[in-house]
Amino acid sequence: MNLYTGSVLHVDLTAGTATVMPLRQDWLREYWGGWGLAARYFQEYSAPGTDPLSPDNPVIIMTGPLCGTLVPLSARFCFMSKSPHTGTIFESNAGGAFGPELKFSGFDGMVITGRSEQPVYLFIQNGRAELRDATGLWGLGIFETEEKLQQLTGGAKTLSIGPAGENLVSFSCIGTEAYRQLGRGGTGALFGSKNLKAVACRGTGAVRVADMKGFLSIMTQAKTESLLTSDNLWAKTDGTPVLVDLTNEMGIHPTRNFSLGVNAEKSGLDSDAMKAARAGERACWSCPMACGKFTRIGGVEIEGPEYETLCLGGSNCGVNDLASIARFNRVCDDLGLDTISTGATIGLAMDMAEQGLRDFGLRFGEVPEYLAVVEEMAHLSTDRGRDLALGVKRLAAKYAAEDLAIESKGMEFPAYEPRGNHGMGLAYATSERGACHLRAFTIFAENPFDDAQLAKDVVAAQNLNAIKWAMCICDFWGTITTEYLARQLSAGLGETVTAEELDRAGERIWNLLRLLNNREGFTAADDSLPKKILTQALRGGPHEGRTLGAHELEAMKSLYYAARGWDADAVPRPATLAALGLAPLSNAEVRHA
Ligand code: SF4
Repeated sequence: MNLYTGSVLHVDLTAGTATVMPLRQDWLREYWGGWGLAARYFQEYSAPGTDPLSPDNPVIIMTGPLCGTLVPLSARFCFMSKSPHTGTIFESNAGGAFGPELKFSGFDGMVITGRSEQPVYLFIQNGRAELRDATGLWGLGIFETEEKLQQLTGGAKTLSIGPAGENLVSFSCIGTEAYRQLGRGGTGALFGSKNLKAVACRGTGAVRVADMKGFLSIMTQAKTESLLTSDNLWAKTDGTPVLVDLTNEMGIHPTRNFSLGVNAEKSGLDSDAMKAARAGERACWSCPMACGKFTRIGGVEIEGPEYETLCLGGSNCGVNDLASIARFNRVCDDLGLDTISTGATIGLAMDMAEQGLRDFGLRFGEVPEYLAVVEEMAHLSTDRGRDLALGVKRLAAKYAAEDLAIESKGMEFPAYEPRGNHGMGLAYATSERGACHLRAFTIFAENPFDDAQLAKDVVAAQNLNAIKWAMCICDFWGTITTEYLARQLSAGLGETVTAEELDRAGERIWNLLRLLNNREGFTAADDSLPKKILTQALRGGPHEGRTLGAHELEAMKSLYYAARGWDADAVPRPATLAALGLAPLSNAEVRHA
């Protein structure tokens, strides 16, 4: 097949089998790959109401059709399942080289179900797969696991979990190439619940392209005229830390558990500070941007910290010392903890102490305990570690601290303050996996308080990102268009693809995600923001005193639902589904294979 391998690996960990199955080609022109195809496979293999940590919850890993070609920024791959952190459907994607390697080994993706009795790892090599004993790897951090797997497999690309995933921490991550993660939502716990320590993959295959000359010509033109332009080159020169400067200027930089919109002490962790400590850079497979910046400071070397970690693990905890944040980041990456959720939960615990609600021995700006508690959270080794490993929503519920909890659908907020940009509030509230900045990103909107325009912008951005991630194209190609993708796919497949059908696919994917969440019992009431955001004015910076009240959010949601063709309960209307070729989901229609 052109662009695709035509095979998907089905792994049943209970039976101990790995079976090669043909790719569902009847779904390709509707869902394409990555996020879209993974959602369709998830629909097929999941049943409503499944406990996320049960053997029955399927894990889907999927590449995109351009993955493994020279198209820049196309090497990411997607992970989809039901989240143990939020109970929603959720997607996560990561870069590095695992995606292309999976394709070179002969598979577009894999479906993993069941639970092994003993710890195992999955080894895939050139069209074959086997489950191997991982007892000797269990308990190791991700860095050491990767090293050992390299020795055991002769240099495979790997996905693996650390102690946090083994201990089923609901916001644990799968790591790849040490510093890249399938973050948010508990990917690590999902592997852990299946006794799956790692997946290791090696391949020597290639991706077939129909019209090589045309394919390369379209790609080269897009690289020069669309990718390597002033809109995107910040990723190459600065990386994400430049957002520390920008969000502080905009007054949307969460500080001290979302109490302030600016961090007056940011100079130790802004982009100048990061550049001064820069020790190198790294790119994902076939990417000319190399946005991954290595930092060496205070005896720590790490790829990162990225912006979200600088904010949630820094400003939001009152920690402004780059060396301490780098150490926090490194420990999280090794143990397999999501830095956003970990930093947000520690920030909440610090706020709880300040408000006299509960003293965990954690104070804003105090570093030793802030670092110590990360280990305790991953290992569940102390009472406070077990408490903080609950994440923001459950920790707040346990100690009646809901007024301080900053989450939506149970997912901790990323690093953009919605009271200073209402579009981010709507984006968080309507995201399928809870508060997320990667579904719609409105911080550069002309008017951050034009709610009617922002509602339209959020719909458009969610649809575009849905098709972009069906292609597994990196977020940092911000100027990519479906017109370009259609031309690139046409040359690769040898079939005509139009921008209109890709636009429709993006909308279809977003609607399918909504149907899957509705199937799990999520309603319009879950498209919500926390009390602190909806009832308190923002302090500090250019948006001092700004609010995002419940009535404003509800008005934006109404506009959003109307623009989507959904009813007031956030259920897609029959006509909307029919236009997209979708059918309502019911328990009877979901087959559990
Ligand atoms: S821009 Fe960065 S994250 Fe995106 S593909 Fe390139 S190196 Fe990877």
